[in-house]
Amino acid sequence: MLLISVSSQVTLLAIENGCNPMPSAESWQVPDARSRNMAAIKAKNTKPEMLVRHLLHAMGYRFRLHYAGLPGRPDLAFPARMKVIEVRGCFWHQHADPRCHNAVLPATRREWWRAKLKSNAARDRKNLRKIKKLGWSALVLWECELEDQDILALRIRNFLGQPGGSARTVDRSKKRMQLAQTPNSLNRWAE
Ligand SMILES: [Zn+2]
Repeated sequence: MLLISVSSQVTLLAIENGCNPMPSAESWQVPDARSRNMAAIKAKNTKPEMLVRHLLHAMGYRFRLHYAGLPGRPDLAFPARMKVIEVRGCFWHQHADPRCHNAVLPATRREWWRAKLKSNAARDRKNLRKIKKLGWSALVLWECELEDQDILALRIRNFLGQPGGSARTVDRSKKRMQLAQTPNSLNRWAE
């Protein structure tokens, strides 16, 4: 099986996303201003999340966004398959992989950052435990793992199985996503 084309849109997003070794400029605000934004840390529609959403659509999967039926409102839910995909920023969710350079704490106010980010990671683990306890399975995709679109597509396919068929689910965002898609943005799978 071979993924023979990847949408230019998705590729463009991948390039834009890159693998930034440091948090975005916005995250370097002084801590007081930063703390006002902490409520929004369960950020929606982040670049990594959009990249995965575009790829899923191009592969023919339909999903629910920020699914309220499960703890922590997972980013992408596939209710008929009882599966969720979480897309996580390495810095904000503290990717624990030693090969990841995106999760390094800033040089100043390290204890402040450590406490803030530790609670994010603890909440992630707690929600994932609850989701699995309910009989769902989860795939966590880290920001630094999204660069190679072919590998990403294979991981998604291995986790979700075939797109479409009886597992097709209601998709509220379908119309909006279709508008955002370009005609050549479909991936073709060849056996
Ligand atoms: Zn990472």
